[in-house]
Amino acid sequence: MPKDTLTPTLPTAARFADDIVTHLMSSLGKDPDHASDNDWRVALSLTVRDRVVDPWFESTRATYAAAGKRVYYLSLEFLIGRLIEDVTINLGLEKVATKALKRLGKDYDALVVLEADAALGNGGLGRLAACFLDSLSTLGIPAYGYGIRYEHGLFEQHFRDGVQVENAEAWLAQRNVWEFERPEVTYEVGFGGHVDYTEDGAATWHPTDKVIAKAYDTPVVGWQAKWVNTLRLWSALPVVNFDLDAFNRGDHLGASAPESFARTLSRVLYPDDTTDQGKELRLKQEYFFVAASLRDLLRRFQSEGYEIETLADHVAIQMNDTHPALAGPELIRLLVDEHGVAFDAAIDLARECLGYTNHTLLPEALERWSEGLVKHLLPRHYAIICLLNLRSLEATGTPILEHGEVKMGELSFVMAHRVNGVSALHTELVKELVFHDLHAAYPDRIVNQTNGVTPRRWLLSTNAPLSTLITKTIGDDWVADLEQLTALEPHVDNAAFLRNFDKAKRANKVALSNWLRDHHGAAIDPDAMFDIQIKRIHEYKRQLLNILETIALWNDMRDTPTATWTPRVKIFGGKAAPGYAMAKSVIRLINDVAATVNTDPVTRDWLQVVFPENYNVSMAERLIPAADLSEQISTAGKEASGTGNMKLSLNGALTIGTLDGANVEIRDHVGAENFYLFGLTAEQVRARRTQPDYARAAIEASPRLKRVLGQIADGVFSGGENRYGDILGMLWDHDYFLVTPDFADYFETQRQIDVDYRDRKDWTRKAALNTARMGWFSSDRTIAGYASDIWGAKSMLTN
Ligand SMILES: *Cc1c(COP(=O)(O)O)cnc(C)c1O
Repeated sequence: MPKDTLTPTLPTAARFADDIVTHLMSSLGKDPDHASDNDWRVALSLTVRDRVVDPWFESTRATYAAAGKRVYYLSLEFLIGRLIEDVTINLGLEKVATKALKRLGKDYDALVVLEADAALGNGGLGRLAACFLDSLSTLGIPAYGYGIRYEHGLFEQHFRDGVQVENAEAWLAQRNVWEFERPEVTYEVGFGGHVDYTEDGAATWHPTDKVIAKAYDTPVVGWQAKWVNTLRLWSALPVVNFDLDAFNRGDHLGASAPESFARTLSRVLYPDDTTDQGKELRLKQEYFFVAASLRDLLRRFQSEGYEIETLADHVAIQMNDTHPALAGPELIRLLVDEHGVAFDAAIDLARECLGYTNHTLLPEALERWSEGLVKHLLPRHYAIICLLNLRSLEATGTPILEHGEVKMGELSFVMAHRVNGVSALHTELVKELVFHDLHAAYPDRIVNQTNGVTPRRWLLSTNAPLSTLITKTIGDDWVADLEQLTALEPHVDNAAFLRNFDKAKRANKVALSNWLRDHHGAAIDPDAMFDIQIKRIHEYKRQLLNILETIALWNDMRDTPTATWTPRVKIFGGKAAPGYAMAKSVIRLINDVAATVNTDPVTRDWLQVVFPENYNVSMAERLIPAADLSEQISTAGKEASGTGNMKLSLNGALTIGTLDGANVEIRDHVGAENFYLFGLTAEQVRARRTQPDYARAAIEASPRLKRVLGQIADGVFSGGENRYGDILGMLWDHDYFLVTPDFADYFETQRQIDVDYRDRKDWTRKAALNTARMGWFSSDRTIAGYASDIWGAKSMLTN
């Protein structure tokens, strides 16, 4: 595909302004004199969107013409955030749009923040899916993302007296300008009922409950719009909209019952990234989107006239974690029952199409469903799973059915031709711990694809000061080829470059300080070190370790106020699952400590704790460019990869971290001297857990820690009330996540950081080296790896 056929020529600002006004009037029906800023934002978005359509159609036509392979990325989560800047930047329109709006008396930056943040995901897993879509388009690989169009994304978090409260999120309350409704693309999805078997092994399933899946398409624009893929999200509708008989009988509520049953399926995202199993609705959601997606991709495949036996030459399906694991049995069912493929051939064909990405080592996060529930909801699939179970037992001795449950990890493994972990360490632990026996039977199946992040969103768009400096220094090829950042390395010994690097960081810190002042009432000094921990609140991520260290530091400052202290702002961001009591206690403790510490006249110039509520992608985009220090302090062996660690280091933050997940590879890339390592290794963690009373021993060995725990017990941060018995009991008794054994090393490492930060020039040099050496962590590299090692998919771009 010659590249200029897809690159739209840029309009003038005058023309663009006219188009915005036209949209305002004819698409929104608004008089420019009376339009709100939000109306202008929608008109701007529609004007930008107009320029997506041509390259989108071109990409689709080129894909049909080439008759190649399409990638289907199945994910229950897509944590997209706002799209307007992403699309505008990828189209190269940001200057034109800014100028055009200025002519109209409007400010681009003020309008774009009015778009709702699409939070159709919990955290890293969902954000990875969004970064992957961006990279698939930038690399020009024909692909669809498939998921659910949740009416309510991840809850909105508020703090009431320091306690997390959750409110329903309503991103669709405003018009979603990026999606195209496809009323003609619908599939019936069934549940329950019975199965009639025929003698040749095929069957007919007669489900009793049915819903309709309706498609909504969002174009996903790659860098410079050379390629545009599609994110297709399914919304659930009733088969019969309305029970007219019931209505006529006077039962007005009952008349709407079918509608509310169906709509429940796409109503809410489950707000937990680790433990939602066992809930019937969740299993229904999983089958709902898998069934619609597979029917859709088979329809597309058949429309091209191929023989079913060639399916794997044209279709690669990736299961993002086990949530889409029913794709295995569902594809077998469709092949056997509807396409007449023999059972064994169907298993092999399905496996050739399917890949599975494992995202977790936490045992509670590995999905299991009760056999009874699966049998009741999906009787045909249950029969297929029973057969797969027998085959697996024969071939490897590993069951898929155990203790009355279907193990979705094992099911995914046996139905995938490749299983991948998401960092080098994680992949080794997956081989050793999660799938030990299956790995022994299929030693070539597990491969590694270390996660990455898209540089378009996480550097170019979110960090204008730094990306401008980079482009001035080495040109702009880095945007689509991030390893070009190594060309910055020679410049880190150039004083002028370092000054400019520092200036960019300071500009971002000033912007963040202003935003925190205006929106969260926090008064912080942009010259202090910005020490940032942003991610879901979870025990394994150890926000608790961070806040305990904060208290210990506060104590030291108060003990010796005459010493030299490096001013620090500790910034936290993250949500706890609504049912996760310990994580919610940690949130409250952080807020309590903030309230005490921030007003202390002795320390307030040196130490501030800030926890803005409702962390999401948009907030991440504000925080990350301003970070000096990135907290990646999970218990070693628990964080599969992390991607927040990559975003922060790429933006010139130094990391304090354990040897966990992708931290290991980040440290290898940026250099051990530019990374603050502390804590037990994964192996030491496992050994330590076998020692009796290791937590008590660690507390007794650290007077600082013991004092901190005593203060919490005494209610120093909670008005004399003993509010944190749960946390203290956990720490003294078992401390499964080893906060106490890692405390002393963490504290000492932080004090070294205090000293190092005062040497501003050397710190900036290290920060710049982080940016220069993080190019490998582009999701473009990850996707290129999936394409070659798992999918056998090719780029459609010639250059
Ligand atoms: C990147 C990202 C995450 C993942 O962060 P980790 O530190 O890897 O857990 C979670 N939430 C949002 C909004 C993100 O942008």
